[in-house]
Formats: sequence, structure tokens, C-alpha cells
Amino acid sequence: MPDRGVRITIDLQALQHNFQLAQRSAPNSKTMAVIKADAYGHGALECGRALSAYADAYAVVFLDEAKALREAGIHQPILLLQGCRSIHDLEQAAALELWTVVHSKEQLRMHELAKLPQPVTVWLKLDTGMGRLGFALAELPGVYARLSECQSVSPSITLMTHLACADERHNPLTLEQCQRFRKASASMPCSHSIANSAGVLGWPITHAEWNRVGIMLYGGTPFVDSSAADLGLKSVMDVESTLIAIQNHVPGDMLGYGAEWVCPEAMPVGVVAIGYGDGYPRGIRNGNVLIGKQIARIIGRVSMDSLLIDLRGITAHVGDNVVLWGAKFPVEEVAQSAATISYELMCQIRGRRHYR
Ligand SMILES: *Cc1c(COP(=O)(O)O)cnc(C)c1O
Repeated sequence: MPDRGVRITIDLQALQHNFQLAQRSAPNSKTMAVIKADAYGHGALECGRALSAYADAYAVVFLDEAKALREAGIHQPILLLQGCRSIHDLEQAAALELWTVVHSKEQLRMHELAKLPQPVTVWLKLDTGMGRLGFALAELPGVYARLSECQSVSPSITLMTHLACADERHNPLTLEQCQRFRKASASMPCSHSIANSAGVLGWPITHAEWNRVGIMLYGGTPFVDSSAADLGLKSVMDVESTLIAIQNHVPGDMLGYGAEWVCPEAMPVGVVAIGYGDGYPRGIRNGNVLIGKQIARIIGRVSMDSLLIDLRGITAHVGDNVVLWGAKFPVEEVAQSAATISYELMCQIRGRRHYR
């Protein structure tokens, strides 16, 4: 990837701090570090290594992600969150000693047909209200019985489900999902896994043998109504670029595509070298950046390689560092202006990554 000038700094100590907060928040659970989507844009190998002294297990989505972690020397269990897509994948998963989810009849059938050199550990996924992947609760006894018969499946099966609304602290669906899950699984000799980051931090009732945490590791708040700092999380990703021009405009000057922004007075406008080509959200409205300790407002439409900022009342020079988000400027504020969540911003941003 060519160096487009965007600098992404990842603070691995902050990542470790956040992982330990997850463990302290649920002291009776084991904690699985979710490092799918290249660790939410933070680098799966680097984050995986940084957590290897702490994490009880990891979770990714794709076989290739797990393979890369094994090649990087990660020896903990790695769960494939969407399971395997073919018997061939299942054979590879077994060879790599991965854990795999079974969420569909097709996957159940694959396990029945596969001849593996050694059985794999299976997490059986139930749909308790997310409406995405997983078996209906009524199917559980039948599916469990069939899986237990499979020579390709290790005897200890973990039951899992995923929460749809745990980010809203008062949404009753979380309790309902827990109740459905525990009722359906009460008579089964299985470990359980329910909680994501929101469950770990806000819903003790969701804590089980295993919790699966993603966003909180990266210093993102999982809640719609609490900041990451208030939860004790440390920011992990700093995104910075450079002020490459300052233009002095006269009243009536129109700025950027669509001539959307019209200068109400004579004013200095800065050009920052980052745009949607770097994964910065084009749809942002009333967004801000940080120059030194000063907040500057983004004006006009975000371009592919640049965006404009209002420099009225701000001391700035060409070449100055501009912070898009990070320890000094919370990603959740940017997410709010862009009508999205920190997860999406972190996953989409591209740049040269440095670790410290
Ligand atoms: C991504 C994911 C998680 C982690 O969710 P966060 O909200 O990032 O903590 C947990 N479980 C499953 C099944 C997931 O897909």
C-alpha cells in the first residue's frame, strides 16, 4: 500500500490495559479477544501477540485469519466465529487446532461427514433474538444430540449466542435473550458464552464461562450513552495527518465539491491531507479535528484525499500535525458526527501503522 501520509499509531499497552479491564469486570469468566477484521483495523498479528500473555483465546471470522495467527506463533485456541464453509476448511481447521462454530444445518452435516485426524472443539450457536446466525432454540436438543455423536467433534461443546441490543442499557431484549438461552440450555452439560463488550461492561447477568470482547479492547465504547473514558477504557488508535495548505478566502467564496459551504466573511481555511480514500467518513456533518490543543471544524464536503477546516481563531501553520481521532480526541465524537459507530471508523481507516 503506498504511503498516503495518514499515520495510525497503535498503543499496545492501552490494548493490554483494556483487556485487563475486561477480565476484572468479569472475574469468573474466561476472556476471548475478538481480533476479526484485522483486529478492528489495529492489526491482528500485532494485537494478537500483544495479548498473548493475557488472552484465554482469540476469535476471528476467516480461516486465513486464523492461519496467519498460527504462523505468527499464537498457540491459544482460536475460534472461527462463522464456522467452516466446507469439509476442506474443516480439515484445515482441525490441522490448525482451531475451534469452530456450528450455526447451520449445512455445518452440522459437514461435521457428520468429515473424517478428521483429530476431533475439533465446537461452539454451537443459538439464535436467541439477534436474527442472524444460529439454530432456533427448539432445534437445540436435536442438533446437540447429533453433534455429540460426531467423531469429528470433541466431547465438550460450548453453547453460544450473540446479543442484539446490549449497547442500550435499558433495552429489555438483553434479559430476554439471556433467559431464553439459559432455559434452552439448562439441562445440557455445556459451557456457555453470551457476552460481548457491552455485556461484559454493563450486563453482569450475561457473564458466563466465556466472554467475547472486541470493541472495548480497542478503546471504543460499546454503549450509545457512555464515553469510553467514563468506562475506564484507554484509547488505542491515534489517527493523524498533516495540514498541507492554508487559504485566505473572501466573503462569498464557495468551498469544495457541490460548493456546499459559502464563506460568511474573510477567513482562513486549512486543507488536511486525509479523505474518504483513506477511509475517513465522507458523510460526516459538523465534524471536528484537533490541531495542537485546538478544535477545528470540518467545512464543506470531504474529498477523496483532503478535507477543509475552518481556521478562524485558530493558530495553525502548513505542516502542522492534525489529529482525526485518538487519545486526545475520542473516536466516539467522530462516530457521532458521521452517524456511525467507532467500530466502522476503526475498520475502514487506512494508513501507515506504527506500534508503541
Ligand atoms: C464481533 C463479535 C463479538 C465482539 O463484539 P464487540 O461488540 O466488539 O465486543 C462477539 N461475538 C461475536 C459473535 C461477534 O461477531
